[in-house]
Amino acid sequence: MFGKTHTLYRPPGEADSLIIRVADGCPWNGCTFCGMYKGVKYHFQGLENAEREISKHWKMWPDARRIFLADGDVMHLDFQTLETMLLSLNEKFSRLARVGIYANGTSILAKTDDELQRLKELKLNTLYMGLESGDNETLKTVNKRETAEQMIEAGQRAQAAGLRMSVMILTGLAGERRSTLHAHATADVLNKMQPRLLSALRLVTTPNTPLYKSGFKMVTEFQAVKELREQIANLELDSTVFRSDHSSNIIPLEGRFPKDKPRLLAQLDDLLASGQLDTNSPGRLPWSL
Ligand code: SF4
Repeated sequence: MFGKTHTLYRPPGEADSLIIRVADGCPWNGCTFCGMYKGVKYHFQGLENAEREISKHWKMWPDARRIFLADGDVMHLDFQTLETMLLSLNEKFSRLARVGIYANGTSILAKTDDELQRLKELKLNTLYMGLESGDNETLKTVNKRETAEQMIEAGQRAQAAGLRMSVMILTGLAGERRSTLHAHATADVLNKMQPRLLSALRLVTTPNTPLYKSGFKMVTEFQAVKELREQIANLELDSTVFRSDHSSNIIPLEGRFPKDKPRLLAQLDDLLASGQLDTNSPGRLPWSL
């Protein structure tokens, strides 16, 4: 279907889902820390090809219950296209329970409340959105398209329509200087948004990104844990599943807010007090991201 193939990304939570690629790349592709789609032009090959792709997967896995539509920001497609694809999935996959997609704030805000509700009726379930930071200065510095306020509105509107927001944040994105501000502002945005799922990843710069080329200094291992501790301490979430089990993280954490917050803080406090964290460098980095 696509002329140029590249790594296909999907959230860890969709590991057991049937992945169907209906578009290619990210329509923004401008965040300076992100190397996911560098050199990949955003592309949707039209409904006919998407339908063909859906049929191909249905023939092989007709009993699929969970489907993830790739790639970078499928929510960017117009409402009619999304509705048609979801109708097709519902018609073909008789056991379909839920569909997930990546969705940027701008793409969510481009849909009306009625449209979001209709997509939910058609079993669109989880929207994976990269918040990265709640600090507008940091968002601007890394050329994120949306402001914190826009992402709060997008998250709130999506959840009011019954969709589940799964939000990603990036520890270390603001560097050492704004680390605490980034932690507090991010917690503040999350408290307003109340996402159902929250993933914390640590920023590890990769050579194919403008941020790396700019000479950005990653925070130390100690600072990354301290920042995450600060974020968690300021979170007031009513019902959120939290994970920081991505390979970029220094320690894998998992829990439910609000009940597991004290345990998560205790784990991080123990680590900070252990003397094992590198206070001069980012420490050992994952092999691949
Ligand atoms: S972080 Fe998300 S929105 Fe930004 S360029 Fe990467 S895929 Fe696109």
